[in-house]
Amino acid sequence: MKKLTKQSRIVLSELPPYQHGVLNASLAEDIYSQSKNPARALHFLTALLIKDGWTNVQIINPIYHGKNGQLTGQNFRDIYSSDALLFSTITRTAPQTMQLVKKYHEINPGGIAIGGGPDPTFRKEKYLVDGMADIIFRGEADRNLVTLMERLTLSPDDLSGIGGISYRSGSSIIDNEPEPLLSVEELGRVPHPFYDSETRRGVRTAPLETTRGCPNDCEFCSVTKFYGKKFRVKPIQWTLDELKNIDKMGRWIFYSSDNLTGNNHLPESRKTALEMLEAIAKSKYKRKGIAQVTIDVAEYPELVSALGKAGIDFLCIGIESINPAALREMRKPYTAAQNIRNVKLLREAGRWNHGMMIIGFDADTPEIAEATTEYAKESLDSWQPFAPTPNPGTDMYARLEREGRIITHDFSLYDGQHVVIRPKNFTPYALQKTIFDGMEDFYSKKEIARRFVKSKHKLNALGIGAYIHLFGGKRRMLYNPQTRAHLEFLRSVS
Ligand code: SF4
Repeated sequence: MKKLTKQSRIVLSELPPYQHGVLNASLAEDIYSQSKNPARALHFLTALLIKDGWTNVQIINPIYHGKNGQLTGQNFRDIYSSDALLFSTITRTAPQTMQLVKKYHEINPGGIAIGGGPDPTFRKEKYLVDGMADIIFRGEADRNLVTLMERLTLSPDDLSGIGGISYRSGSSIIDNEPEPLLSVEELGRVPHPFYDSETRRGVRTAPLETTRGCPNDCEFCSVTKFYGKKFRVKPIQWTLDELKNIDKMGRWIFYSSDNLTGNNHLPESRKTALEMLEAIAKSKYKRKGIAQVTIDVAEYPELVSALGKAGIDFLCIGIESINPAALREMRKPYTAAQNIRNVKLLREAGRWNHGMMIIGFDADTPEIAEATTEYAKESLDSWQPFAPTPNPGTDMYARLEREGRIITHDFSLYDGQHVVIRPKNFTPYALQKTIFDGMEDFYSKKEIARRFVKSKHKLNALGIGAYIHLFGGKRRMLYNPQTRAHLEFLRSVS
C-alpha cells in the first residue's frame, strides 16, 4: 500500500439504499426515509481525523451532497481521486457499496479502501476478497482509526499490532487480535461528530448517541454482537455538549442508541438513565426527541415521566410479537402480557408508541398474523411489521442458513420489509402479502382518521397520514419496482 501523509485526500462515504442495490439507481424507501437521519459512525470518524491533524477530509453522503439521493459526477470524481476511501455500510446497502469500492480500485489502483460497520464486521472476507477492500474494521473503530491512519503514513506494509482490523496481504487475509470495546471513560473522550454545512442543512432528525450496547441478545439482532452486552452510558457532560453541537440541526433529535435506558430492572442502571434524562430536560438545547427503548421501561413511572420531561415523547419499541411462543423463539426477554400491558401504560402517559413487530416466526400462523394487525390497530400510534430478517452475523442467520431456509442472498432486500426466508406456516408469498395487507389496513385512511381523533400527538398523526397518502410514501415503500419484482419471485417459491 502507498504511504499517506496528513495532507492526503481522505473521503468518507456512506450510501443510502437503492432499488435492487444498484449504485446510483432510484432510492429504496422505508418508513425512516423521511427522517433524513445521517449515519452514526462516519461523523465521529471524521472528527477523530480532523483532531489528529488530517487536513483534507471530506464526507460524501449522496442524501446531503448529491442530487436526489444519487452521487453526482463531482462526487464520483472526489471519491475516485481520493488517496483513501473510508466506507461504512449495513447489510442492506452492501451491494452498492461493494460496487463503489470495486470501481474505486479499478480507477485508482493505488487508493486504499478501508471499511467498517456491521456488515463488513460480519462478512469481512466478502469485502476483502470480492469487494476489493484493503482493510476492514471489525466492531468499533473509534479507538484505532487514528492508529491505523498514522501507521499508513509511516509503514503501510506493516499493519501488525493494530487491534480489530483484518486486511489483505498477498493472497491471505490477516485478522489482527480483536479490540476490546471502548470504556465509558474513552467514550467520553471521543470527539463530537463533525457535520459539514450540507449535512447540517439537509438533516431532518439529528442523531445523538448517548449509550452503546444492549443487555439482551435477541436471535435476530446484531447489536450485542457488534456493541457488546455490557451496556455503556456516555458521561452526561458529553451528551450535554453534543446537544449543543447539534443545535439547530434538523427539527427533531433521534437518540440513536439501540437501547436508550438499558437495564431498566436494575436500580443502579435506572439511576444513571434518570440522571441523563434529567440533565437533558434542564438543557436549553433540549428538543423534541425520538428514542429506542425496551418495553419494560413502562414499568418504571419515574423513567416514563423523565423521558417526557426530556422531550422524548416518540418511542420506537421492539415489541416484536403478542405470541408468547414466538417471543421465546426469538429470545426476547419480555412476555406477551408484559407487551400488551406496557404499551397501554405508555399510551396513557402520553408517549407515542411506534411498535416494531415481526410476523412469520415458526410459532406464528395466519390467525396470529391477523390478530397482530388487529392488536396494532387498537394499540399503536405507528406500526412497522417486519418479516423475520436474518442479517449476517446474527444467530438467526446461522440457524436459517443451516436449515436451508434462506431463499435469497440479495442483501438489498434485507430491510425487514421483504420476505427473504421460507417461513414454517406460510408460503413466502403468503407471508409477504399478509405483511403488506396488514400495513394497508393499519395505514388506511379510515384507520389514520380513527387514530387521529384519539391521538395526543395530532400533528404527528397527520404528518404520517400525509406522507403515506398525499406524498406517495405508500407507493414508494410497497409498490416500487424492486418490491413488485420480488413479489413475482416469491410467487414462484413454494
Ligand atoms: S432488545 Fe433490541 S437492541 Fe437489544 S438485542 Fe433485542 S432487538 Fe437488539
